Amino acid sequence: MGAVLERVQGPVFRPGENDFDEERSGFQTAHRHRPDLVVAATGPQDVRAAVTYAAEHGMPVAVQATGHGLGVPIDGGVLISTRRMTGVTIDPAARTARVAAGVRWQQVVDAAARHGLGPLSGSSPSVGAVGYTLGGGLGLLARTYGWAIDRVRSVEMVAPDGRLVTANPAPALFQDLRGAAGVVTAMEIGLVPVTRLYGGGLYADTAHVPALLDAYREWTADLPVELTTSVGLIPYPDVDVVPEPLRGRYAAHVRIAFDGPTAEGERLVAPLRAAVPLLRDTLGELAYTDSASIHNDPRQPHAYTGTNALLRELDPAVLRAVVELTGPQAPLPCIVQLNHLGGALRRPSAVPDAGPHRQAGYLLRVVSVLDGTGRQLPAHRRLLDAVAPWTLGSSPNFVFGPQEEHQRR
Ligand SMILES: Cc1cc2nc3c(=O)[nH]c(=O)nc-3n(C[C@H](O)[C@H](O)[C@H](O)COP(=O)(O)OP(=O)(O)OC[C@H]3O[C@@H](n4cnc5c(N)ncnc54)[C@H](O)[C@@H]3O)c2cc1C
Repeated sequence: MGAVLERVQGPVFRPGENDFDEERSGFQTAHRHRPDLVVAATGPQDVRAAVTYAAEHGMPVAVQATGHGLGVPIDGGVLISTRRMTGVTIDPAARTARVAAGVRWQQVVDAAARHGLGPLSGSSPSVGAVGYTLGGGLGLLARTYGWAIDRVRSVEMVAPDGRLVTANPAPALFQDLRGAAGVVTAMEIGLVPVTRLYGGGLYADTAHVPALLDAYREWTADLPVELTTSVGLIPYPDVDVVPEPLRGRYAAHVRIAFDGPTAEGERLVAPLRAAVPLLRDTLGELAYTDSASIHNDPRQPHAYTGTNALLRELDPAVLRAVVELTGPQAPLPCIVQLNHLGGALRRPSAVPDAGPHRQAGYLLRVVSVLDGTGRQLPAHRRLLDAVAPWTLGSSPNFVFGPQEEHQRR
């Protein structure tokens, strides 16, 4: 072992050793990094040692917290596993949280809730707070408060040459490190005063999906920024964990999060509720700590691929393409999600190159479970090609697994 690695306090694993496979595993099960060694970091000094070792040996570095966002796995080099770096500190007066590199959102949501605050977390509480934020961070209250990356107050990071640098305000650091990948060891993020929501889901069966999509398009044309919504089109698997009315069906799931009084939320949602017959309606008062129930994202690790397009607007032709190319009659039905953007997401960012295109009106995401047939990437490509006339760019957070060459570009 190199002298620099002897300083590492956490375990270091090499291929063939016990726990090497466990340490490089994550939420994505189709792909894994194949490094020469995994440094299971316990703090910034371990990250420094790993980055310095990689620099000395001319090796690539990858970072993994939860594995939700694995893109292209590395072949050789050093994998820094941050899952042991789980410190969260809340400063209620400053309304900030300091989150270490391996922290998952639920931990921040629970810690902040004790002070009547919440982070700009997203649909799944088990996603890593740092990875999510670095990719832009599209939260449950995104139209009210904007992208999570805009709330970063300071960043503690190991630069590619092994220096530990801290910048406050954060934009200065992003500016300094532009183009050079560093490893974030902790971030200070802004919190917002939220403890409850009016929210949940509206579900409609296959036959009503086209009408619901049209209604969603019209409804989202004029909504207050306190209302953040998306619609998922989902071929639900026929398994016990899926509730009975949805099990084995292709259905639409509108997700609602309203940061305002329940009566006002009910009034705003009424036109959509009345648009088509519903299979299920879970809208109601909700503690922010239970906000994962709005999306009910899968919790079990699995094999998936996904990509996305940020759309200028939601043209009816986009909705037709979605139904024809990914719906129940398509050669390969896919999971599709349309997020309504706008509101505070349009604000210009202080962070240079701060991810997604700010003028997009909607985000179209397509995800498929991998089954070894190789049909998923071509199916996704057909959808992206069909919506290309309305596409402004794509969000790094919603690219899952290796992609075809033109999509990587
Ligand atoms: C079920 C599910 C739900 C999701 N919901 C949302 C959502 O609502 N909103 C949203 O915006 N995104 C969402 N995402 C996307 C998610 O934010 C990204 O996949 C994000 O990259 C996950 O970060 P992670 O640390 O959990 O994953 P990891 O796979 O561990 O990390 C992903 C990437 O982030 C980078 N990274 C992680 N930690 C560091 C670090 N310390 N320093 C430098 N780089 C680092 C690395 O490039 C790494 O490859 C969701 C993803 C899934 C699978």
